[in-house]
Amino acid sequence: MDNLTSEQRRRNMAAIRSRGTTPELALYSALRKTGYRAKCNVRSLSGTPDIVLEAFRTAIFVNGCFWHRHPGCSRSTLPKTNRRYWLPKLARNVTSDRANQRRLRSAGWHVMVVWECQIKGRFHWTLTRVRHFLARCEAKRASRK
Ligand SMILES: [Zn+2]
Repeated sequence: MDNLTSEQRRRNMAAIRSRGTTPELALYSALRKTGYRAKCNVRSLSGTPDIVLEAFRTAIFVNGCFWHRHPGCSRSTLPKTNRRYWLPKLARNVTSDRANQRRLRSAGWHVMVVWECQIKGRFHWTLTRVRHFLARCEAKRASRK
């Protein structure tokens, strides 16, 4: 099922550790290396998805756990102070995330959210999840033909 070699895996890990590499870039380049045609930061789509795979009509958001409120994640705990400032600000992020995803879905896009902590902590697992998601999108499309 999973044909990443240990060499590729090692390089993936090295890519994440290398300085200045953001989680979305790490995922993006791993997808490119495994043969997917992907685009970065597509501004023409709602919410500027981090990674877009047009052939799969799929938009992927790589969300920071704190800013986008990853449910149950230790990185998304609220600061102890200034909650009156943080709460509405973060709530607005979540609301606009949902609106963007809704807009994309109603335009026929598949939307996947990947969390920063998953890329940082479980990169290989995350990449496998993305590939399975894409395979399902592909299957849905094929069944409509
Ligand atoms: Zn998280």
